[in-house]
Amino acid sequence: MNKQIVSLLLLFGLGTAASAQHQNNPGSNHGNKFEQLGTLMHDPNVYRSASGAPGPRYWQQRADYEIDVELDDAKQQITGSETITYFNNSPDPLTYIWLQLDENEHDPKGDNQKINGSQMKEKMSVSDLRNITGHGQDLGVKIKKVTDGAGKALQYTINQTMMRVEVPNTLKPGERFRFKVDWSYKIPDRMTVGGRGGLEYFAEDDNYLYTITQWYPRLAVYSDFQGWQNKQFTGSGEFALTFGNFKVNITAPADHVIGATGECQNYSQLLTSAQLKRWNQAQTAKAPVEIVTLAEARQAMKAKAQKKKTWTYAAQNVRDFAFVSSRRLVWDAMATNIEGKKVMAMSYYGPEAYPLYNKYSTKVVAHTLQSYSKHSIPYPYPVAISVEANNGMEYPMICFNYGRAEKDGTYSEATKYGMIGVIIHEVGHNFFPMIVNSDERQWTWMDEGLNTFLQYLAELEWDVNFPSQRGPAHKIVDYMKLPKDQLEPIMTNSENIIRFGPNAYAKPATALNILRETVMGRELFDYAFKEYSRRWAFKHPTPADFFRTMEDASAVDLDWFWRGWFYGTDVVDISIAGMRYFRLDTKNPETENIQARNNAEKEARNISQQRNREAGIKTAIAQDTSLQDFYNKWDRYAVTASSQAEFQKFYNSLSKEQQAFYTTKNYFYEVEFKNIGGLVMPIILEWTYADGSTETEKIPAYIWRKNEVQVTKVFAKSKEVKSVKLDPFRETADIDETNNAWPREHVPSKFELFKEQRLPRGSSGGQNPMQLNRQNQSNPASGTN
Ligand SMILES: [Zn+2]
Repeated sequence: MNKQIVSLLLLFGLGTAASAQHQNNPGSNHGNKFEQLGTLMHDPNVYRSASGAPGPRYWQQRADYEIDVELDDAKQQITGSETITYFNNSPDPLTYIWLQLDENEHDPKGDNQKINGSQMKEKMSVSDLRNITGHGQDLGVKIKKVTDGAGKALQYTINQTMMRVEVPNTLKPGERFRFKVDWSYKIPDRMTVGGRGGLEYFAEDDNYLYTITQWYPRLAVYSDFQGWQNKQFTGSGEFALTFGNFKVNITAPADHVIGATGECQNYSQLLTSAQLKRWNQAQTAKAPVEIVTLAEARQAMKAKAQKKKTWTYAAQNVRDFAFVSSRRLVWDAMATNIEGKKVMAMSYYGPEAYPLYNKYSTKVVAHTLQSYSKHSIPYPYPVAISVEANNGMEYPMICFNYGRAEKDGTYSEATKYGMIGVIIHEVGHNFFPMIVNSDERQWTWMDEGLNTFLQYLAELEWDVNFPSQRGPAHKIVDYMKLPKDQLEPIMTNSENIIRFGPNAYAKPATALNILRETVMGRELFDYAFKEYSRRWAFKHPTPADFFRTMEDASAVDLDWFWRGWFYGTDVVDISIAGMRYFRLDTKNPETENIQARNNAEKEARNISQQRNREAGIKTAIAQDTSLQDFYNKWDRYAVTASSQAEFQKFYNSLSKEQQAFYTTKNYFYEVEFKNIGGLVMPIILEWTYADGSTETEKIPAYIWRKNEVQVTKVFAKSKEVKSVKLDPFRETADIDETNNAWPREHVPSKFELFKEQRLPRGSSGGQNPMQLNRQNQSNPASGTN
């Protein structure tokens, strides 16, 4: 096919997709936002059912690893040798296998050093310059050899962060392939060159903290929906990984403490008898027990052991393996019970984190496991570890978090809650994506969004006043208010997202919380969300599997919700555009005559009459009272016996139902709503009555289906209404609340008064829009993931 045809087809294809997304019925005010997602999702098939469950012939690959690795503390280097057993469970014959060499993100010759734009500034930091000139270090993976199980060399090709290994004889469906890779790399200083793993150097005691991640050549995912996921690692979009069993021997200096994915097999050879005793105590302890104490860590920090020790770890059915190694670590542990199964909650931290981590970390780990197990699936692994490493990054059973105290042992409120939040978040990642194993390189929201949503629930269960930054609807408003060209849909590939934090963490978390609290209700949502977690635990779900399961298990049509919140950039801005008040004419003189008198008095305001009275002009009938008669004195609004009798006669002629309207539902309010933001949402109203009482009611989003921009609805009330307010509990992320009340509320904005003064040049006085952008753009605090 020549290039021109290809690009024409591409244009055509994209145009169709885009119009299918927003314009099923172009130019119309209906038939768009509530259309079913249809072609926006992949077709159901034998691998993935239309219900959102794995299909009858669902398959996934498996990779088992046996790894020997040595950490060289003097050279800050990793040297490893691995035997991989790859199981081809797919129906496809494979002639090659793709592995991920993530550490090549730091290869000075790699594309990753070239693909980020840069700008000169008046003040350049060292890291700004490093981004422009390169780090100049010999970083990246050195592959020593790749052989089959018998030691015969295999052909391989390295393309940036991916390595293709040729399978000598086609790997047929149902077959397995054993091969070996030997490699090494220099551990990067993650505090300067960046990265999710690496070393941190502590000059004050001349020691390193090693967080070793993405460190071994790892199998890429081969799947029914995208073949090999071999999109290059740029350091941004995270990982797509295959489940398997690990046996890992980690050799490190004898005075190092190691924590890792899985269970250690040889503590009895590694720990002192006192430490081993504490480890045994921790198995039943209700509070964390220090297995390696602060005093022992401080002692170890003073010297450097020449001898080595080998820690043996085993982990079943995990998608990855990471570890921490240092002589600077305190280690504590306690048991927590997850539906009758013991799980060891543990923490590793240096002296600078001791005041915070010793008090909170392991208890937060246990709390997170409890909360997430309740909302998704029971935590299936035997351990869960939190390591203090001044960052935020997740792996199976182990994660790296921040939270260091001041030199005097005190800490700020922000550090405390930031730490608790990040530990909940990173431990929470055990569930998404470590167990519900989505493709992070493609869809960041599938793990970050779901996890941030559950983080919010766990934070509220920790402390109902927890200062959560993501989850409450109104917290997403500043992001949603940005100009349209600065927003991208949640369903955007990880690499192409500009505002990573709001787009992939906060917006989906907010959307799910709205789904739970406002659209579906807790009962229907929780059941469906747990069903999704159960269906896809230890499997590879796609967005369609999530969208379909949430509907399938709840009988709530949610296509409009996914379309609006996940596929689009529309925002919520519903306005009460007008309200008209109607009263039934009761014909009852006792009611109607009072009303009639009031109306007449209002209508009698007449400028000419008023000025004549003020001028004291004497009228003819006043000057000559003989001109007056009965009609000058008659009270036409007086309730008389005859008018009452007439009403009673009329009333008695009515049916029971008609009579009831005279005593109840006497007040009718026609309210006009406008959908200014574009995102259709339920309408939540709070009525305030003349007697001071209030009432809330919720109208499902479906009210917009015949007209997506404007609806009117009549409300019959038994009491007179004083005012009505839209979204009184701020649960829809409405970006403009000034049009949410009728009559309009006038909430004053504050301004400050200064003495006359000359502002510095370039000062704008108001909030700098660039600052706002930067806040919105920020990744999670301290670069957590
Ligand atoms: Zn995360």
